[in-house]
Amino acid sequence: MDYSGGIFNVEEIELVFPKFNNEAKMTESEICMKCHGCCTYVAVPLEYPRSKDTLDTYVWYLLHRNVEIEIDNYNKWFLIFKTPCDKLLPNGACSIYETRPEICRDYSADNCSRTAKDHAHQFKQPSELLQYLEQKKKAKSGTVKPASASRRIAGKKSVRMTGKKSALRK
Ligand code: SF4
Ligand code: SF4
Repeated sequence: MDYSGGIFNVEEIELVFPKFNNEAKMTESEICMKCHGCCTYVAVPLEYPRSKDTLDTYVWYLLHRNVEIEIDNYNKWFLIFKTPCDKLLPNGACSIYETRPEICRDYSADNCSRTAKDHAHQFKQPSELLQYLEQKKKAKSGTVKPASASRRIAGKKSVRMTGKKSALRK
């Protein structure tokens, strides 16, 4: 099946978590002001696709521009919407800092997406997801050796986060 094409010329957004040359001398707050990577997406937990209907829905998700599915380093599935927060100011500051949501307060620069690869698998196209599940099926039946998922400490900002409070001021 061909999933390419579409009538809207919407640009593909790449999530960026930059490193800086002089970051050893920068405070966490300064790094966040320049990075603001975690203010540019929404991550929503997903179930593993056990039924054909669920998988069909996931394919539908991936037919949309700037929507991805990721499996994190703890084997949790997430639907990623690559879209910047409206409260992010051009200078990297949060315009509602004092009243920002708890999830923003909980996300910390010491285990964020900048520190390491924050996912084990990433699917941008339906074909990538279907191929992954097919390989998994073969691995289960013993035909193919399963790919090992890396264990990293970084994670996406998502509603599962229960980390410590961040003292970062953006
Ligand atoms: S918490 Fe991490 S991803 Fe978010 S702005 Fe700070 S350095 Fe960037
Ligand atoms: S509310 Fe503020 S800290 Fe939270 S995502 Fe938006 S800009 Fe970032």
